[in-house]
Amino acid sequence: MILNTEAVVLHTRRFSETSLIVTLLTRERGKITVLARGAFRPKSKYASVLQPMGYLRLIFYWKEGRDLQTLSAAETIERFPRLASSLEKMTAGLTILELVNACLHDDGAHPQLFSDLVSALRGLDQPNVQESAVTLWFMARLANELGYALRSDECGVCDETVSVREENIPYSIPMGAPLCAEHTGAASYRPLPTQSWTLLREVLAVQPEYLHSVTASTAAATELYDTISAFIKFHVEGMKRLRVSPVAGKILAQQGNVITNTE
Ligand SMILES: [Zn+2]
Repeated sequence: MILNTEAVVLHTRRFSETSLIVTLLTRERGKITVLARGAFRPKSKYASVLQPMGYLRLIFYWKEGRDLQTLSAAETIERFPRLASSLEKMTAGLTILELVNACLHDDGAHPQLFSDLVSALRGLDQPNVQESAVTLWFMARLANELGYALRSDECGVCDETVSVREENIPYSIPMGAPLCAEHTGAASYRPLPTQSWTLLREVLAVQPEYLHSVTASTAAATELYDTISAFIKFHVEGMKRLRVSPVAGKILAQQGNVITNTE
C-alpha cells in the first residue's frame, strides 16, 4: 500500500555507503522506520530533507508487519530556520525528539502527540521563547498522551483543590499530583517549590501558540524538569533508558536563566 503522510524526523543513521535509516513520527502510522535508498548519492534530494526535526510530507510503501518501510519520496512541509541557528534551540529540539523516540513504540498513531510535536518545534523556532518552557510543555503533553496526566491543583488522593500554605507544595511523583494537608501522610512526596509549581500550572494551561509567554528562573525550571522526568520515568519503560535528556534539561534550565536575566 502506498501511503502519503506528514512526518517529523526523530533520528537518522547511516545504513550503507549510500543509504540512510530514518526513524520518524508520522501523523497516520505513529512511529516508523524507513530506508531511504540513495540518500548519500550526490544528487539525492533526501540528504537535505531527512534531518532530525525536519517536518515533512512522505510517500512510502507500507507493508504491515515489516520493521523497515521503504521511502519513496519526501519533501519539507515547513522549515524552522531558527532551530539550526541556536545551540539552545537545537538542544531543546533534540531533547524533545529523544523523548519521543524513547517513550513511543511502533504501536500505532498518536495524532495529538504528532500535532504537539510540530507545535513544540514551531514554538522553539520563535525568537523570544524560553526553550525550557517549550521542553516542559512538551513533556507534560507527552505524559498525557501516554495516559499519565500531570495535575497541579487537585490532591492525588481526594481530588480536593490543594491550598498553597507554604513555600513548598508536597507533590507525589507516582501520582503526578499534589497532596492536600490531610493526605500528605498518605504517600511519599517531594517538596515542589512554589515557583516550580506555578510554572507547572502555566505549562499545563498554556496553548502552544502562547508558549513565548511562559518564563521561569533556572531553579524553577530545573526542579520542574526533574519532577516531570521522574514522573515519566516512573510510568514509562523507555524513559528509564534515557541518559542524555536529563543532562540536556539541566543545560536548558541554565540557559533559561540567562534569557530571564537579560529580559
Ligand atoms: Zn487529599
